[in-house]
Amino acid sequence: LDPEVFSGESRAVVNFLAEYYRDVEKYPVRAAELEPGLLCKLLPEAAPENGEPLEDVLEDVRRDILPGLTHWQSPSFFAYFPMNASTAGFVGEMLSVGLNVVPFVWAASPAAAELECVVVDWMGKLLGLPQRLLFSGGGGGVLQGSTCEAVVCTLAAARDRALAKLGHENIMKLAVYASDQTHVTFQKGARLVGIPPSNFRVIQTSASTGYGLTADAVRAAVNRDVADGLVPLYLCATVGTTGLGAVDPVRELGEEARRHGMWLHVDAAYAGSAAICPEFQGYLEGAELADSVSTNPHKWFLTNTDCCCLWVASPRALTSALSTDPEYLKNVGTNSTGKPAAVDFKDWQISLSRRFRAIKLWVVLRRYGAVGLRAHIHRHVTAAKWFERTVAADKRFEVVVPRKFSLVCFRLRARFPEDDTVDDLNRELLAAVNSSGRAFMTHFVVDGKFVIRLAVGGAMTEMKHVMDVWELLQGKADEVLRRYQI
Ligand code: PLP
Repeated sequence: LDPEVFSGESRAVVNFLAEYYRDVEKYPVRAAELEPGLLCKLLPEAAPENGEPLEDVLEDVRRDILPGLTHWQSPSFFAYFPMNASTAGFVGEMLSVGLNVVPFVWAASPAAAELECVVVDWMGKLLGLPQRLLFSGGGGGVLQGSTCEAVVCTLAAARDRALAKLGHENIMKLAVYASDQTHVTFQKGARLVGIPPSNFRVIQTSASTGYGLTADAVRAAVNRDVADGLVPLYLCATVGTTGLGAVDPVRELGEEARRHGMWLHVDAAYAGSAAICPEFQGYLEGAELADSVSTNPHKWFLTNTDCCCLWVASPRALTSALSTDPEYLKNVGTNSTGKPAAVDFKDWQISLSRRFRAIKLWVVLRRYGAVGLRAHIHRHVTAAKWFERTVAADKRFEVVVPRKFSLVCFRLRARFPEDDTVDDLNRELLAAVNSSGRAFMTHFVVDGKFVIRLAVGGAMTEMKHVMDVWELLQGKADEVLRRYQI
């Protein structure tokens, strides 16, 4: 790496990206409907024999790649859950990839490992997590790439803790519990750690509880399984479900989990970030009963992809399931008596090699501070509240489930009882909005109803973009309704 070349080329890329952000609103938000395989036809069949100038590469990005992207950082991106990019997130990421250290064991990069310990404790405190999940309270945290990885690791920890008592031959008896709103990552994780699919319980929720899981429903499922000789292992509670933004009651579920000796994981992938605001911390109330909690700062916390915080009450439970101890990775000269034990993050995750994510989150926390991060959350919640109120005031629409954070789920109402075209109407409305290129939203299906989701959360999204999308929706709704008039 030649520092002069590095300086020049990285400046060129930064300028390219600054121009991209300046112009991002000019692109259709969702990728144009390109024919699959089109890019392959544009690109050579093999990598170049000789290096090419950066200008040529950037020109190809501009010409061939950008038109095929969905612009996640557009302020009119309201699909899935937005994934934040910010100046601090980007600068932090540059430091991470620029230094390119690999803190898998403490000695492999002591300051990187220690910064991770500091940053996960800072985050835990900001979100109001109980002391027992923090390093300073005997627990601890790790930065992983995704909630999916975090869930696999905690399932493995719960499995090994249970099998150490039951005997490994009893793995087929282990049962896991979640709701019909839980992210599918949970089922994938359970499959990966060897839980028989016939022992996954997907408990039904309903509108009466805002699609939150109740302790009564969990108890009924667990009692049936115990009577059948199964062993309840793990309960996944979600704060801010993907489809609807629903919340499972953490304390109630924690008490239920304790009663049956189950591991309780709280998945707050999206909504966990909101807990930086005191008015949202109540949703995590009862987290002291959890064995683990996770949230993705890369969703709604101004932190560029990837970054998932996972906290556990018992680091030993996690490391017993995940640790390896080859001679070539030993921290020679550390861990001698009297010194605090070094944290080897390889034992807190699936992979060995790992990114220096801590520096990115640290830069975000330092540059925006809690006040700036709260303002970021408040801005989106205020815009989502406005949108919810405005939709509710238009008789053609209905809000499907009361908004809790910055996700609004709504649809065109049925025009008369037994209106069996209402789902088609909503499908067409969503398609019309998305193919306009002016906004991008996604859908969900609940109780058989097709629902449109507006997830406010882009780092560049302001009230005016939410107002614009409402105007767009109204225009498209007029067109769709006109077509459906009999
Ligand atoms: N859990 C919830 C509630 C989510 O909303 C998502 C993604 O949107 C996930 C888990 C999966 O997260 P990841 O992609 O980080 O695995």
